Amino acid sequence: MINFDYVRVSTQKAAIDALNKDVTSQFIAGGTNLVDLMKRGVMSPQKLIDINNLPLKSIEQGNGFVSIGALTLNSELSENDLIIKKFPLLSQALNAGASPQLRNMATVGGNMMQRTRCPYFYDTVMPCNKRQPGSGCSALKGYNRMHAIFGASDKCIAVHPSDMCIALVALDASVVIANNKGQRILPFADFHKLPGNNPEKDNNLQRGEMIIGIQIPDKITFAKNSLYVKIRDRASYAFALVSVAAALDMKGKTIQHARLAMGGVAHKPWRLTTAEDFLKGKIASVENFNRAASIAMKDAKSYGHNNFKLKLAPNTLVDTLKRVSGIS
Ligand code: SF4
Repeated sequence: MINFDYVRVSTQKAAIDALNKDVTSQFIAGGTNLVDLMKRGVMSPQKLIDINNLPLKSIEQGNGFVSIGALTLNSELSENDLIIKKFPLLSQALNAGASPQLRNMATVGGNMMQRTRCPYFYDTVMPCNKRQPGSGCSALKGYNRMHAIFGASDKCIAVHPSDMCIALVALDASVVIANNKGQRILPFADFHKLPGNNPEKDNNLQRGEMIIGIQIPDKITFAKNSLYVKIRDRASYAFALVSVAAALDMKGKTIQHARLAMGGVAHKPWRLTTAEDFLKGKIASVENFNRAASIAMKDAKSYGHNNFKLKLAPNTLVDTLKRVSGIS
């Protein structure tokens, strides 16, 4: 039995003060990942700060953005009429994640903060640099079927597990972060980190900071030609082997702009900017989509059991682009 303190706060200031007071504390909202991690001994905060009473459950449009409160449930967001109409990609990604029961508990902020599902991270008798810095990476020469093909390091080859975050990076969202000095806004693409030499750190949130919301620019014109496709081992309740978020701004058959991101392939949502640049101004065709996929895969590297991702990722990208452009 692991003992821990529990406190419930009802203001943002109280939440941040409580976090600053005790370096071993953690925020808890839905708890769908943190409680599992605590049960398995992977994380052992000495204090849980329950933030469920904070007024951060909202979906509002104004000032050029759709703003989403950090405590909005994944199910509330995926079923919201404005989100379905403006960003169907985001609704599809949320519905592809977890199970209805989990989506009814998990919050937007918690979804962003969830930890990798690398099995060695959860197995406390195995070396894992992310859980215990300096202990080694069991996945490098171990069973690495689910692991990264982009942006990994010799310290960690884990992947980021969220579907929602892949859609948000493709939608050019930003993260609103509060601290005891005020607020700061971080582009979503800069929120999660690559592993480098410090895989224990998943993101660029500093100690004493909390996510209070997400902003998505509402001028996006490609809702009609957008799609989230997730390839997984079973039809539901499984993490992505590879996923693709794609949105095309089309004029006739010409692609004005493309937004592309992949999941299940890197330590962070993986934006495919070189493929986006290539597609700009091109005609939607299988030939151009194949070319974009080979550009996107240029720096991919596999580790044995995940060699299949080197084919699955470009094939999924091409298939998704054919579907969103209406040529298949
Ligand atoms: Fe740990 Fe990362 Fe290696 Fe998995 S891939 S064992 S999370 S260091």
